[in-house]
Amino acid sequence: MSEGLRLPKFSLGVGDRFAHQAKAQLAACVMAADAGVEVVPVWNKSNREHTIIGSEPSQTRVEADAAVKALKWTKPYFLDADHINLKTVERFLAPCDFFTLDVADMIGKPADPKNVAAFVARHPELVGTVTIPHIEKPFKTDAAFVTGVANQFLAAVEDAGRIYRHLVEKKGAGNFIAEVSMDETDAPQTPVELLIILAAIADEKIPIQTIAPKFTGRFNKGVDYVGDVAQFTREFNEDLATIAFAVKTYGLPSNLKLSVHSGSDKFSIYKAIHDGVKKFDAGVHMKTAGTTWLEELIGLAEAGGAGLEIAKEVYAEAYAHAEELCAPYATVIDIDPAKLPQPEAVNGWTSEQYTSALRHDQANKAYNQSFRQLLHVGFKVAAKMGDRYLKALEANEAVVARNVTTNLFERHIRPVFLGR
Ligand SMILES: [Zn+2]
Repeated sequence: MSEGLRLPKFSLGVGDRFAHQAKAQLAACVMAADAGVEVVPVWNKSNREHTIIGSEPSQTRVEADAAVKALKWTKPYFLDADHINLKTVERFLAPCDFFTLDVADMIGKPADPKNVAAFVARHPELVGTVTIPHIEKPFKTDAAFVTGVANQFLAAVEDAGRIYRHLVEKKGAGNFIAEVSMDETDAPQTPVELLIILAAIADEKIPIQTIAPKFTGRFNKGVDYVGDVAQFTREFNEDLATIAFAVKTYGLPSNLKLSVHSGSDKFSIYKAIHDGVKKFDAGVHMKTAGTTWLEELIGLAEAGGAGLEIAKEVYAEAYAHAEELCAPYATVIDIDPAKLPQPEAVNGWTSEQYTSALRHDQANKAYNQSFRQLLHVGFKVAAKMGDRYLKALEANEAVVARNVTTNLFERHIRPVFLGR
């Protein structure tokens, strides 16, 4: 079921909101290669981000291609139309070769009862005792349970099938990587639910190479994981076992792997991810995005002068429009308003004070995760500054790039892919 483009074992989703950091991001992958692990970059940008910034997917393509050329990168790289559906996919068709089919909105929408019944009848192996190798206890199910899960997810998978077939029609089979994402929903999926979803995806003949379930715990934007790490570890391992089993059982692509969305900055679960992936000899796709935009701000603040002034202005504006900026991200941020410094105070800060509050260094007492999260969703403010912001990035390219590369390599690639 997998011919054509193939996503390598380890891949890193990187977000480049203002299309200025592709080279600095790719430099982190070059460092990974030098350290002995192939991590290929996937530039991801959702329709939501493009809309907020007023950018086009084709700009990401130009920037990524230029970076690849400049750094003489000869390994694969991809452009991800992140979280698209049939309504939003059009402008991503030409520039992208990776599509994240977002069907979270369809979860829980009833599927045609005939299709549900046919699904259950087609899959007697899911009814009764389901034994997945490497998962200690077998799952006990019955037809009612499988029907219930199918009712929850079948409509979503059918929707993914429609988007996938549209893509095949426009781009040709094998000319793009398909991911199915179900992360932007309320309840995490259990391993047996994941198995049922994968069975349905195989039935729809979608040769997915990555799947993004919703994991247990909170994956807030730009900050560490909030939740029970032991439980996450257990479930992540069970998901890995389930995927390996589903690949064999349903003939899904052999490189099918988990995709961890909002994966940046989740320092407390990186060891679990690294160890699980190693244990199962599995791959993993780790999506990061806004963490790079925050490094732009850190770089500008570190530069001092006009750069620091812009960083302060972004905060003041973000603070003034916090409600509006947070609204689209309400489910994936947890800001404590009492912890947000007054803009007047921030305006008096030195470079050191600003970067200490913003940089994701939990050992630094001045690190402020509410400040960081507000700025994370504050990129619209910089987008509104237009050329002034871009010119500042260009004027301070070296210091910004150093922060972008270091953040990706030291804080992300190293713990996740190198395990040290
Ligand atoms: Zn996502």
